[in-house]
Amino acid sequence: MTPPKTLTPSTVTEHVIAILAASAQTPYIGEPVSQLEHSLQCAQQALNASSPSADDETIVATLLHDIGQFAPEDELEGAVRDMDSGSGSVGRYSHDKLGARYLQCLGFPEKVCTLVGEHVNAKRYLCGVDPTYFEKLSEASKESLGFQGGPMDSEERRIYEEALGSDVVKDVVRIRKWDDGGKVVGTEAQGLERYHSLIMKVLKIDDRNEVEE
Ligand code: FE
Repeated sequence: MTPPKTLTPSTVTEHVIAILAASAQTPYIGEPVSQLEHSLQCAQQALNASSPSADDETIVATLLHDIGQFAPEDELEGAVRDMDSGSGSVGRYSHDKLGARYLQCLGFPEKVCTLVGEHVNAKRYLCGVDPTYFEKLSEASKESLGFQGGPMDSEERRIYEEALGSDVVKDVVRIRKWDDGGKVVGTEAQGLERYHSLIMKVLKIDDRNEVEE
């Protein structure tokens, strides 16, 4: 798989769809479905959502939320290097943050990147809000919570809500629940072709130009 030399909505769409297609071969560690099945099952729930329905960016973010888990390693590393050049330090990123940075480098709008980058924190948030939520998690997801920082306490949640804004928190919490519900063998979900035009459309949304110098 070769990354696009020129980033246009069309080249980037083809590329992320190729990455997703290849993730049919990637197991979802600790879960009974492949990474591709998981992404499609999650995105299907976003498509089916009503009252309120999910907007295009939220649907695309749901489809791509785990891309930091299975995108080619050299591309992920490249994205982090590019983002950090000049700041002096290259830290280690978990798959949520890595995916968000990667999508940002590919030109995805800020909302998509934020939602992808926050889907792990949303689990910590939800476990803090509702202790029974923890019980509903898969065994693998319960296990990873510990090294993801554990449930957020009330002060952490307050800071989190303030930093993200309540609308983004609502969206990221929904993605989190779709994420949890997208691990069931045999669940019907539409294929990748359903998302081609949606990804193209989202890539044309340009809210990335508000750079303060
Ligand atoms: Fe996931």
